[in-house]
Amino acid sequence: MPDELLERLRRFKEDAFPQYRAQFQQLVDDGQQPLTLFIGCSDSRIVPYLLTGAGPGELFLVRNVGAFVPPYDQSHGFHGTAAAIEFAVLSLNVKRIVVCGHTHCGAIRALYGEVPAAAQNLVRWLDLGREATLPIADPGPEVLRRTEQRAIVLQLERLMDYPMVRERVEAGALTLHGWHYVIEDGEVHVFDVRRGGFVPASQADNAGTGPYAPHDPSTYLVASGVPTAGD
Ligand SMILES: [Zn+2]
Repeated sequence: MPDELLERLRRFKEDAFPQYRAQFQQLVDDGQQPLTLFIGCSDSRIVPYLLTGAGPGELFLVRNVGAFVPPYDQSHGFHGTAAAIEFAVLSLNVKRIVVCGHTHCGAIRALYGEVPAAAQNLVRWLDLGREATLPIADPGPEVLRRTEQRAIVLQLERLMDYPMVRERVEAGALTLHGWHYVIEDGEVHVFDVRRGGFVPASQADNAGTGPYAPHDPSTYLVASGVPTAGD
């Protein structure tokens, strides 16, 4: 039986790599200098390079279940996403951080449902999105979509708790972008803090929040016209 994965690796080397050889060599010689940290959900239907038209060396990628940002302040545990944020900002000096969620997100749906008992890490991880849920037991598509969007804003807020992120955002050296990718439409809706919600990229005048307003989590959730979980 042919090993399909092995076939794909060989095909990459033979068919795809040659056209990128010079580019990769340059990236090796000069080192990587990506301008964008892309924090995306692990969902296989998000293809960041396809979505942004980026090539090798352009995106510093972190993906996890739900596109969540763990708290900066942690006393224990191993948090790959937190480490990646620190590295991207302090060492790579990225200029943009994108948080990209999407429609039909299993992580968001799981916030309203059951998670297998053995998935103890997953249950804990999902806590990072819980604040975005609405007080509805059996959510329909619209509630799920709103929760997905609220979760994205929540992660942007948590990013602002990272001192190196806040410092640079306030100095105008870094911008934060909340994206909600509508898989079935092939369109990203970008969070625009001034318009108070998510706007289809085709109608937006910026690729995200633009200049981030001074940090006040409550205003973001209220400004987006969405009741907070406590309402
Ligand atoms: Zn997802």
